[in-house]
Amino acid sequence: NTSRLVGKTVLITGASAGIGAATAVLFAKGGSNLILVARRIHPLKIVAEEAAAAYKASGLTEGGKIATIQLDVADKAQVASLLDKIPQDLRNVDVLVNNAGFAHGVDKVGSITDADIDAMFATNVVGLISITQLFVREFKARGAGHIINLGSVAGREAYPGGSIYCATKHAVRAFTEALRKELVDTKIRITEVQPGMVETEFSVIRFRGDKSAADKVYEGIQPLVAEDVAEEIVWAAARPPHVNIAELFVLPVNQA
Ligand code: NDP
Repeated sequence: NTSRLVGKTVLITGASAGIGAATAVLFAKGGSNLILVARRIHPLKIVAEEAAAAYKASGLTEGGKIATIQLDVADKAQVASLLDKIPQDLRNVDVLVNNAGFAHGVDKVGSITDADIDAMFATNVVGLISITQLFVREFKARGAGHIINLGSVAGREAYPGGSIYCATKHAVRAFTEALRKELVDTKIRITEVQPGMVETEFSVIRFRGDKSAADKVYEGIQPLVAEDVAEEIVWAAARPPHVNIAELFVLPVNQA
């Protein structure tokens, strides 16, 4: 039941592809308004069109407003201007989905480049934290809100070649838990969604574009698809206001 999402406004980072895009479409189907954020504006506009079509097909009459904002979450100046870029009629955000994130390379510690270390932390950790800070202030002022962070199985365990990505997702997990406890006397909800393997662009970016190396990871496993994770995110958002889904750990059935 997603009736509680009708007319709510949801901001999703990393909405131009994968889990973020699927989440946008599903929220639109449930009658939410959307603010879609990513660096690539063209794919973002296509997702906005898909979401608009999903809203239209729902037959709902409330909600369905959609805005796109081109923004790099790793750029502090751009993040500082995010609230000003939101159209006036969508300023009251109810749900923030901190989804933008990536892994680059599966290198051993001695050969990871500074550029990869900086970029993964800047996006997955610092970007997520900076955007969260903006909305913690907004939600406190308005008395309610919901922050949903994309962690990962890589935030619960670590594996060779994944030291930096795993460190970023462990940081997301720690940050999310501390924030939830900090806000325990408010009506702000904090959720962390921790997917296992999901077949998206992520897999190929992680192997620097090498599709066959990316595919090898899935041998013997039917990976999740982006929609599987989107369903978990939307489900968590649609719980009654007194229910906080603190963590959702979602794996393909054959992933250990
Ligand atoms: P995709 O690569 O399919 O999508 C990533 C999205 O993040 C894109 O829309 C991309 O858009 C956006 N993005 C990346 N960097 C930035 C940035 N600096 N600023 C703004 N947007 C950015 O990946 P997934 O959908 O698979 O991943 C989504 C989240 O889920 C990530 O946090 C990832 O770590 C996590 N996750 C993924 C898993 C998987 O197996 N796929 C498993 C567990 C967690 P653009 O390039 O246009 O900016």
